[in-house]
Amino acid sequence: MTVYRQWFCDCNGTLHELEPDAHLEEDAAEPACPRCGATPSSDPKHTIRYVDRENYSD
Ligand SMILES: [Zn+2]
Repeated sequence: MTVYRQWFCDCNGTLHELEPDAHLEEDAAEPACPRCGATPSSDPKHTIRYVDRENYSD
């Protein structure tokens, strides 16, 4: 089982999933909101949310 975290931002009133930054190394990859630029570690407006998903397929 693998647990992975899905990140969301609700800066525009709608919860939308953040995409990991593919330009970074996997260990350093941090998702960023394409609209407001917030990330889990830089969330000045506190719009970032997350959900932990469990993947049972492995
Ligand atoms: Zn946002």
